[in-house]
Amino acid sequence: TAVFQSEIGTLLEQVGTGKESLSFMKRRIRRMAAQWASAARRLDDKLRAHWREQKRILVHVGFLTEESGDVFSPKVLKGGPLGEMVQWADILTALHVLGHNLKISVSLKELHGFLGVPPGRGSCPLTGPLPFDLIYTDYHGLQQMKQHMGLSLRKHKCHIRVIDTFGTEPAYNHEEYATLHGYRTNWGYWNLHGQQYMTMFPHTPDNSFMGFVAEELNETERLNIQRNKVNNMAVVYGKEASMWKGKEKFLTILHRYMDIHGTVYFETQRPPEVPAFVKNHGLLPQQELQQLLRKAKLFIGFGFPYEGPAPLEAIANGCIFLQPKFNPPHSSLNHEFFRGKPTSRKVSSQHPYAEQYIGRPHVITIDFNNSEEFDATIREIMRINVEPLLPYEYTCEGMLERVHAYVQNQVAWPPLSALRLLASSEGQSCVTACQSAGLICEPALYRFINIKEAFGGLDFQCEGVEFEMNHLFPAFSAEHAECGLQQDPLLFSCAGSSAKYQRLCPCRDYRNGQVALCRDCL
Ligand code: UDP
Repeated sequence: TAVFQSEIGTLLEQVGTGKESLSFMKRRIRRMAAQWASAARRLDDKLRAHWREQKRILVHVGFLTEESGDVFSPKVLKGGPLGEMVQWADILTALHVLGHNLKISVSLKELHGFLGVPPGRGSCPLTGPLPFDLIYTDYHGLQQMKQHMGLSLRKHKCHIRVIDTFGTEPAYNHEEYATLHGYRTNWGYWNLHGQQYMTMFPHTPDNSFMGFVAEELNETERLNIQRNKVNNMAVVYGKEASMWKGKEKFLTILHRYMDIHGTVYFETQRPPEVPAFVKNHGLLPQQELQQLLRKAKLFIGFGFPYEGPAPLEAIANGCIFLQPKFNPPHSSLNHEFFRGKPTSRKVSSQHPYAEQYIGRPHVITIDFNNSEEFDATIREIMRINVEPLLPYEYTCEGMLERVHAYVQNQVAWPPLSALRLLASSEGQSCVTACQSAGLICEPALYRFINIKEAFGGLDFQCEGVEFEMNHLFPAFSAEHAECGLQQDPLLFSCAGSSAKYQRLCPCRDYRNGQVALCRDCL
């Protein structure tokens, strides 16, 4: 039986020392401990009737190992990306608080030790049963496990979960299909189930949404924030000077109305990209950034970094987040940053989650090339008042609830009763088709609708039925009245569209503020 534990001492010990990234994660775990503890109490009450099995879980953080090059750790204090570390810290805490039997590895040596092969015999394939029920790792870690375990990895594959910030679509994940149809990338083709990949935001229902948490406010803090907001104070999103390059025009307009603050890393001098009228605090510890956001009215992004945690922290502290719309959207087809990533997802703004799931008045997404609109929006922002907002799925309780659901039931879940069958229009993906009906596409339910009878249910008359490996199937082609069924379950995919097909889409409902879970399936 798993028992909630709010004591974090053993977790901190397990995380270890010797790297700036580990220290960053430990500071975060310590700072958020009280919040996790009270969330655990609430979820414990809510789940009273449920028995929870204690799982043996290995967390192997591949990108932090020396063997993968660990480019992140040296940059923790220099403005490098922190989103991944925020997420790993929160995953570790969630699993620990849920009471599982946790082992943590950040080196090959530890990995080999935990997998039961003596160090020094690293090339020897692991035999016998896996000593873990679940392994959370990333693409680097997956590669390392393959080298270590050889062919036996295949046998243990279903126990693996891959933390994958931007997501992996089924067409890229399926080795044979990706090779045949031009979906091969540096990362994909591991032939996992789409839902074994876990993302930072609910980007695509083909993957599981893991997420992270942001700080929650109590009543006193809420009141204080409202009292202390400085109406003409803006903080710019971007801790690395290069993110400010070429933005003088916007900064100058913004500066007509507001005092501008930045948290850009610098060594000795102000970086040339940051104008003199900006008050640059240098890279701040997370806690101090929160304090700054509590005073600011506006948090403004200039297009990079994509899809990070900071905008949620800003909105949670009562800021309005202003960001550029991308028209055309950025994707692996047209932008260097996404090139080679195993997804075709079209990123419609700097932070599509903020745009689509939160929106006005907390999030304003506009075309930054239109100076008049930009100017008018700044003036509008100074007039409106917003309350701090944090979607439930980014609270500690929300993350605990979701991770609990994944750990306990991800095998045959959600239940068939959650299914709502829809047909997309031609050229439409199932992601969009379900969305337009206020639902979400659920790839785990494809297996129920990949049958001839499903076409009849939607009034499609099949002249012929074919079985094919095609990530758009099951689908109906009006031209030849042909019904296509999916041959390989690994290719069930919500993403993807073609003008030739109306796709069959397995949709389900979702909870307000917890899109990963359907209303009646916990
Ligand atoms: N952050 C910080 N100090 C700063 C600026 C940001 O500690 O001066 C933290 C912030 O709290 C957030 C994390 O950096 O949790 C990641 O932020 P971002 O959205 O920039 O994503 P990244 O590109 O780093 O993954």
